[in-house]
Amino acid sequence: MMIHAISSDTLSTLIEMAKSQHPHEFVALLDAENGVLSGINLLPGTRLDERSASILTDMVPLGMSFSGSAHSHPNGVIVPSDADIGFFPRFGSCHLIFGYPYGPDDWQAFSRDGLRRSLEVI
Ligand SMILES: [Zn+2]
Repeated sequence: MMIHAISSDTLSTLIEMAKSQHPHEFVALLDAENGVLSGINLLPGTRLDERSASILTDMVPLGMSFSGSAHSHPNGVIVPSDADIGFFPRFGSCHLIFGYPYGPDDWQAFSRDGLRRSLEVI
């Protein structure tokens, strides 16, 4: 399914999560309904640092599928890392990165290839 938007509630929850984990990274996997990202899943026991994205891939039970992911970059650089590019294709088609200081515009959506993409907030 094509993801075209995120609910504003989900977006503000993710921003709060990024703020509360700072200076550590947070990672969440996202569900969608009718093309709108609207559900947040956290996996227990994940380490909250930049390597967590790759560790996470080993912790997701087989058969679970997601529409996208969200994680933070406490250094404020909103560009996918090499680890992110490896991680994105396994977890759906829309991936959000939140950068310090986590203001309303301090985030960007990326495709599974790590390219910037647009995402409506509804
Ligand atoms: Zn990252």
